[in-house]
Amino acid sequence: MPPERIADGFRAVGNMLAPVYLFQGDATVLLDAGMSFTAPFIFQQLEELLGIPPALEWVYITHLHYDHCGGIPYFKRRIPSLKAGGSEYAAELIKREKVVNLLTRLNEEVALQARENYGISLPSDIQFEPFSFSRTIKEGDIIDTGRFHIRVLDVPGHTKCSVAYFVEELEALSAGEAVGVPFLTGEVQPEFLSSYDAYLHSLYRMRDLQPRFICLAHGGVISDKKAREYMNESIRATEAFREKVEKLLRRYGDEKRVVEIIAAEEYTPQKTTQPRTPYMLNLEAKVRVISRMMNETAAQDLS
Ligand SMILES: [Zn+2]
Repeated sequence: MPPERIADGFRAVGNMLAPVYLFQGDATVLLDAGMSFTAPFIFQQLEELLGIPPALEWVYITHLHYDHCGGIPYFKRRIPSLKAGGSEYAAELIKREKVVNLLTRLNEEVALQARENYGISLPSDIQFEPFSFSRTIKEGDIIDTGRFHIRVLDVPGHTKCSVAYFVEELEALSAGEAVGVPFLTGEVQPEFLSSYDAYLHSLYRMRDLQPRFICLAHGGVISDKKAREYMNESIRATEAFREKVEKLLRRYGDEKRVVEIIAAEEYTPQKTTQPRTPYMLNLEAKVRVISRMMNETAAQDLS
């Protein structure tokens, strides 16, 4: 699939199951970097668009998950001048050995699965390695590419390190899973891994921006009416998922059991192509978040 031109200077690059977003101004900026095994394909498209080596100055990530930062080491090895940006907390996290180990493990596991399931050949030089951030960004910062002004919003809730990018001139929003991920059926899968309240609050803030384009973490770009509906649906789906988890927790009282029940229903080939390990890690985190909220409420009621 060739890189898709969304608007002048704005493209979705890579496979739309895990795309990255390119904004070409005086400085050229990539938002998110995909996984380590998708990096060669993305890089090839960048070479076609931006020359050899690609004239790419910056890559900014929405958050430090394996499928958003996994490609950075590969890109950096080929473009030594490439600079990475992300939230301050993301820059802290990448210094932790445990975090690097998890990012490495997930990138490897998913690459091997892609080879097994889709026959994708894996080059030998796609290994993940820690990288450093040249710039940390926070709420209100502007990334000035000359042509585009990209405003940063702190949008915690998916992770503590999540930020969103709003390209003012295009009204384009890139926020990773902070806006939810569409299942293959079209329903939105909420992704509040670190905090339900923060996630919902972040969603309301992003909806109020009324983005014309939403650069989805997985699934490509949606625009106009679909983008508006998506933000509302994302809020509804978040609230509905919380209610569902609460009901199941009340009934079974056991996080593990609830995770199994939801996974049996959600994790089907008709609904998702997400690899199983990250899917399960995410679901466990979401159930834990709701369980913790219920325990806190119960503790308050007793005090
Ligand atoms: Zn994520």
